[in-house]
Parts: sequence; C-alpha cells; structure tokens
Amino acid sequence: MNKQYALAIHGGAGTILREMLTPTLEKQYKDALTLALQKGQEVLKRGGTAVEAVAAAVVVTEDSPLFNAGRGAVFSYEGKHELEASIMCGKTLEAGAVANVRTVKNPVLLSKKILENPDFVYLSGDGADKYAALNGLELVDQKYFYTEERYLQWQEVRDTNRAFLDHNVHIKNAEAKAGDYKFGTAGAVALDQYGNIAAATSTGGLTNKKYGRLGDSSVIGSGTYANNNSCAVSCTGYGEFFLRSVVAYDIAALIEYKGLSLKEAANRVVKDKLVKMGGEGGIIAIDAQGNIELCFNSEGMYRGYVRSADGKPNVFIYE
Ligand code: ASP
Repeated sequence: MNKQYALAIHGGAGTILREMLTPTLEKQYKDALTLALQKGQEVLKRGGTAVEAVAAAVVVTEDSPLFNAGRGAVFSYEGKHELEASIMCGKTLEAGAVANVRTVKNPVLLSKKILENPDFVYLSGDGADKYAALNGLELVDQKYFYTEERYLQWQEVRDTNRAFLDHNVHIKNAEAKAGDYKFGTAGAVALDQYGNIAAATSTGGLTNKKYGRLGDSSVIGSGTYANNNSCAVSCTGYGEFFLRSVVAYDIAALIEYKGLSLKEAANRVVKDKLVKMGGEGGIIAIDAQGNIELCFNSEGMYRGYVRSADGKPNVFIYE
C-alpha cells in the first residue's frame, strides 16, 4: 500500500460567470462540491477502493438538486427524467454503464452493480430499471426528480422542438452556439491507497431531449474511462462532440501510445482538438502517480480536488 490517495470531482462546465451566480447559490455549489469530496475522501482514507470512492462522491451530487444528475435531472420532451451513468476501474478495466433509466435514485450505484457483474457492461431503459430492482437498489417515483428550476427550464423550451443543455435554456431564441451553454453533469476520478484509479460520471442529459437521445456520459471511452497504465477521466460538455471525439479514451491513448504527460494529453484534447470542432466542456483526470488535471475550454467548471498530503478539499467554479 503506498498510502497516498487523491480525488477530483466536477459538477458540470460551461458559461458559468461570476455575475450569473448569487453569493448564496455560489455557496450552495461550493458546499455540495466539498461534501462530495469529503464523502469520497472518507472512503479512500479508510482504505476503500477508487471505484468505491468515485461512486460515493457522485452519489452526493446525484442527491443534490443543484446538479443535472439524479435528483436534479432535467426534463425530456415527454416531461420525463431519463438518467445515464457509468463507472470504470483502472486496475481491472471492468466497467458498468446505464442509459435511460427512470426509477433509479442513484444511477451511479447501478453502474457499479453492473461493473461487478462479468456478464455485461451496458444496460438501458426498462431492462436497466428491472436489473436495479432485482439487485435491491433504491427505486423512486419519477416525481422524486421534479425540481421547480428544471421544470421552468423545460417550460421555456418545450415548444421549440429542440434539446438544450441544462441551465441556459433562456437562450433558446438566440443563435445559440455550444458556447452559450452550461452543463450540470457530475463526475469523479480517484487514486486509492493501493495505487489504483477509477472514474465515474452521471447525468440527466439534455433538457427537452427526445427519441431516447444519449450523450457521452454513459459511454465508456467517451464520457468515462480508466486504466492504471494511463489515467482515469470523467467528462462534461456538449455530448455530441465528446462522443465524436471519444474524449476520455483519446486522453488515455495519448499517454499510453505517445508518452504525453497527463497535463499535455488533457490540454491537447480539451483545448485544441475539441475547440477546433466547436465542442465546449471540460474534463477531470488523474493518473496512478496522483497527478490531477481539471481542464476546460469554457468559462467555468464546478470542480474540486483533495489529496492525502494535506487532506484539505479545494473547490473552484470560475477560471
Ligand atoms: N455531456 C452531457 C450530455 O451531453 C451533458 C453535460 O455534460 O452536462 O448529455
């Protein structure tokens, strides 16, 4: 055991400007991020695994109405909440993912259950909800995911026939570019005391989404990836770009095949490749040496990290 541990989290990236958040709201976000770090840290401190730690941290964001994950998930075109999540272990390369679940209180815990089952990696829709019930996960009525903030956002855009990233639906009539949005997806990456890393991501997807639209968050390789040989990554941003750029795996591949450092690889993908495509967002990443990157090409990203060296949670919102 090397005794060193570290954890990083995000709660979404995008156009997050100081003037957009009241001091009260800013404090609420910072408190929620701090709590997520503390819950993950507790796990790591007592010798839990990186997989357990990222799940514990993401559960906090799923239980908070502030993030577009779990409780605060956005409304779909049909007025439903359809959630996605994924998790991966960098030691074993085992992974679990769920898409379009409707009754699972904590989709990241369902992903973890799936990771533990060697028979499959990715479950969706009613089947995934059924698997959650069979495995004793906490189920909730769709009403549990109702929050007034998300409902009002949906009301603003439900007649547009278009899907929006949460928070910034008010720009519906403008020539909205990806750069106008904020993203409320949540994720975590961790290094445990055994030298293993893991990543997890959870989201409610896009406001007013239809046709079972899925983003990158539940796709292993795009929104989430972990491999002890390279790094663990969790993404947030405009999912269509992250899917097409296979962002999380691309960062890992630059490290594994080209020998780039974590920082170089993250910058190459987030600040160069994604920018050229027009894909706004950010990533958090960690490697087995305990290096951490919180990298984004948007104005802000709800984010934070904690390391065993001083045990003090650090949280940030703006650049
Ligand atoms: N990546 C997510 C999606 O496209 C959105 C987000 O990060 O908030 O579904």
